[in-house]
Parts: sequence; structure tokens; C-alpha cells
Amino acid sequence: MNTTLVKAFGTEAATADLKELNINRREVTATDIEIEILYCGVCHSDLHTARNDWGGTLYPSVPGHEIVGRVTKIGSEVTKLKVGDLAGVGCLVGSCSTCDSCKNDLEQYCSNGWVGTYNGADQYIGGHTFGGYSEKIVVDEHFVLTIPTNLNLAAVAPLLCAGITTWSPLKHWNVGKGSKVAVVGLGGLGHMAIKLAKGLGAEVTLFSRTLDKVQDAKDLGADTVIISTDENQMATVSGKFDLIIDTVPTIHDINPYVAALAVSGTLVLVGYLGPLDPFLNSVPMILGRKSVAGSLIGGIAETQEMLDFCGANNIVSEIEIIKMQDINEAYERMINSDVKYRFVIDMTTL
Ligand code: NAP
Ligand code: ZN
Repeated sequence: MNTTLVKAFGTEAATADLKELNINRREVTATDIEIEILYCGVCHSDLHTARNDWGGTLYPSVPGHEIVGRVTKIGSEVTKLKVGDLAGVGCLVGSCSTCDSCKNDLEQYCSNGWVGTYNGADQYIGGHTFGGYSEKIVVDEHFVLTIPTNLNLAAVAPLLCAGITTWSPLKHWNVGKGSKVAVVGLGGLGHMAIKLAKGLGAEVTLFSRTLDKVQDAKDLGADTVIISTDENQMATVSGKFDLIIDTVPTIHDINPYVAALAVSGTLVLVGYLGPLDPFLNSVPMILGRKSVAGSLIGGIAETQEMLDFCGANNIVSEIEIIKMQDINEAYERMINSDVKYRFVIDMTTL
């Protein structure tokens, strides 16, 4: 298969900075769309992958799965978009399409293994996939999203991961008018969870460690902010929430959040990946029929539903635009929770 060399930004090792490098992109097949990338959001998962926090990173690694841009080429059978249209790509660029999950629009739970936008197995040209910190990307049309044209394009980019990752549990657990929802951590995912839950009509509380985010959270739509390190404040929300979305990226004690669930409530982990420490106490779960669950991004149809909802309700991410060359500094700021509330790379600076 023919390929072209394009400019990208990535890293050769877990301990190395990201720098300019070249990658191959395939020529469009009959069902492919080629997209010139205009903006790419910076997800904490990019950082986890670049630094091999989860193990299994393939190098060179080119992160980026919050991609928006313009269609520059389409294959002969493409019907979804035409040249010149806006297009989006999130975390998924492939799945088997035949398993029960894929048939039910849950490509992210494909039982034969979905293909990540980066660090996945490239079934077209071999090797591994490279993400959105690059000039262009070629993706099968099934995995390309239509972008509402009424929204600020740069601020749409984070919807492709932070948006869908919080939308999917909100929908799965039937959040709507009157639901009591809490969000743990005010970062990229957390701020989208607040906006989307609010958009669905929920009463929303933020749990944060950071005092100086209280006003921001209220401006974003939170009705209440609880400082999670303050036991007195935590006690005021005991037994309150139908759904808590926990976005904290590192190991932490989730027992205090289980205590804040109402009877039959669910705490859904979307941030930290790994064993819990300290152990989860089952007593309050059994006595209150409470659940602790996890959730992974969202399927393609659900991502389109979320984008359309954001278009209709004027919901976008709060962003700070950076140049490609600022990415290493941005990662450091992200580790220090100093992001308000998503970095988006202006890809014309590459
Ligand atoms: P982020 O922008 O860095 O936000 C994380 C927030 O968590 C911080 O702003 C901070 O909020 C809080 N936090 C950070 N360290 C903490 C600690 N040690 N203890 C308690 N709270 C802490 O990250 P993000 O991009 O939203 O991503 C969050 C996590 O979700 C990452 O691990 C990412 O890999 C994961 N993720 C998962 C999925 C999925 O499909 N499940 C998809 C995308 C991302 P406060 O200052 O308010 O406390
Ligand atoms: Zn992400």
C-alpha cells in the first residue's frame, strides 16, 4: 500500500521529550477519509502513553485522539463526508465490526480488540497507529465524526475524548432532569462532565482538592463544590448522589465517594486504571445496593449523538491553545493539575 511521509510530533522513549519526527500515512482506500488536522486536544491519556505509565507503549509514540480538521481526500465509496467538510476523529480508528459489541455500536468494547487512534495495531501498513499530533490522518469513514459547524472548532476537539468519555456513563446510567450527579476532579474530563450533566438537566456537584477551582466550577455549571480533603464538607453529601463520575488519574481512596452515593447509586471510574488501594469496603455497597463500575470512552454512534447534542446546546470545552512546540511544558502543567481546562494544539504550528 502506498504511503506518504508527514510531519508529526512524538517521542522515542518514555523519558524523552516529544520532538518533531516523520511518520507514514496510507493513501486513502475506497472507504477512507484523509483529514488535514487543524486542532488536537491534549488528553491525560496522551501523557500516560508517551511516558509508558500503563506499560505497552510502542515507540516512536505520536499521541493525540481529540482531532478536528478538514477533509482533503475521500475514497471512491465514501458517503459520510466530502472534501472541504469539517471532520473529527476520537480515540477509535478500527474494530472488528462483527462481534456483538460492534454490532451494538459499542466498538470500544470490541471483543476482537479495537484499534486505538495511537498505539494500536495498524492493519493497513503494519506497525502501530500514530495519533493527532501530526499534519494529517487517514481513517475509515465509519470512525470519522461529523462536526457541528456552529461551534468554535478548537474548543470542539476535546469533545472527541473528554466529552464522549463523560457522556457515555451519563447516558448509560440514564442521567436526566433531577438526577443528582457528582464529578471527582476538575480537569479535562471533569469540566466536560459538569457541562454535559448540566446540559442533561442534572443537579451537579464537583469534588475537588483545589480551593481555587471553586468559582470556575460554579461558572462551568456546578451547583455545589465540595473540597474532598475536608471531612466536614464530605459529611454534608453522605448518601446523596445517583451517579458519581471519578476522573482522578492516579491511585486514590474511593471509599469516601461510595459513602456519598444514594441507595442504588453508582460510582463510575473513568480516570485511574489499575488495582485499588486501600481496598474497597463492600459493607456500604451491600447495605445500600451501591455499585462501583468503570467506563471506556464511547462508541461512534454515541460520539456523534454527543457532538450533535453539543451543537444544539452550544457546549464546548474551555481551552488554552498552545503551539506544538509547547507540548512538553503542557504535560508538566497537566501533571500539576494546572490546566484550565484543556490544552488544544494549533496544528498549523507544527
Ligand atoms: P486532567 O485534565 O489532568 O484532570 C485530572 C483531574 O483530577 C485534575 O485536574 C485534578 O482535579 C484531579 N487530580 C489529579 N491528580 C489527583 C490526585 N493525585 N488526587 C486527587 N485528584 C487528582 O486529566 P484528564 O485528561 O481529565 O484525564 C483524567 C484521567 O482519565 C486520566 O487518567 C486519563 O488517562 C483518563 N481517561 C480515561 C478515559 C476512559 O475512557 N475511561 C478516557 C480519557 C481519559 P482537582 O484539582 O479538581 O482535584
Ligand atoms: Zn483521551
